[in-house]
Amino acid sequence: MKAGYYVGDYTYEVRDIPENEPVEDQVKIRVAWCGLCGTDVHKFQGKNGASVVVPPIILGHECSGIVTAVGPECKYFKPGDRVACDPSYGCGKCSWCQQGFPNFCIERHGVAKGFSEYVYPPEQNVYPIADSLDLETAAFTEPLSCAIHGLDLIQIQSGKTVVMYGMGAIGSLMLQLIKYSGAGEIIVVEREAEKRELALKLGASLAVTDQEIEALSKELNIDYVVECIGLKQTMEQAIKIAGKNGKVLLFGLGDPEEPVSFNQFEAYTKELSIYTSFLNPHTSERAVKLLESGLLDTKSIISAELSLEEIGSELRALEYSRKGKVMVYLSKEH
Ligand SMILES: [Zn+2]
Ligand SMILES: [Zn+2]
Repeated sequence: MKAGYYVGDYTYEVRDIPENEPVEDQVKIRVAWCGLCGTDVHKFQGKNGASVVVPPIILGHECSGIVTAVGPECKYFKPGDRVACDPSYGCGKCSWCQQGFPNFCIERHGVAKGFSEYVYPPEQNVYPIADSLDLETAAFTEPLSCAIHGLDLIQIQSGKTVVMYGMGAIGSLMLQLIKYSGAGEIIVVEREAEKRELALKLGASLAVTDQEIEALSKELNIDYVVECIGLKQTMEQAIKIAGKNGKVLLFGLGDPEEPVSFNQFEAYTKELSIYTSFLNPHTSERAVKLLESGLLDTKSIISAELSLEEIGSELRALEYSRKGKVMVYLSKEH
């Protein structure tokens, strides 16, 4: 079977590797679609994603597909089931898992590396999806589950003012979640005019540039700021513009070489809370339910549908982050 590898040194390769049969409680899934994530681009650039990267590694972790076989200990799935995967494995036994934090599991590793014709996650990482949900949309389960976890942390109160940075794929999902959380005014900060249009279409009350938000922050008290870009400059501005009693969620994945700094005194006078969010503990099921509800517009976020082979040039195009979601098709089933 074919699989798309990051082999080190800015090089991506599609390799032919042996296809396995599922053992123990593994579910063998014929991958239909897999989203290309910002962390895949990070890995390709030699930086770490949620885990340390040691190439060669198969990229991709946002996949959906159809079950073709199950291991002998598997209880809940059978061939033909339509499913989405959570790629983050928690052992269920270590101290962190016992405390309810599988995202900090000491044995955590990626299962369901989706740039691959087949994946074999253990069944605890597999989620059934309704027949009404198409498999391409179901591949949004993982990024959406991460966004849900982030918003769970800050608990947006109805009627409050929220500023959200960045209309990439994650920001576009986040914006819609913020809208359904009952926020009052939602202001999106985005440099590209085309993306500001998309923000208005997906529920923002206002879409502005980073210069404009500085001025606005002097006129209104911004209760929540959600940063979905991960750039030093925008993360620092996010902290600066937050109002009194403000909560700032730094959701975008930052560069470890570029630490953020902020004025502690200013933050103190506002009694600011700063949050970060790591992975997607216990939120995959909710992500599936939300996708099944049809409430979210994922179609408007997709910028390209590419084959496993075409991803190489996409990874090299550093302007990637300016686009929406790139979906990689494997079996291409719906
Ligand atoms: Zn991802
Ligand atoms: Zn564990």
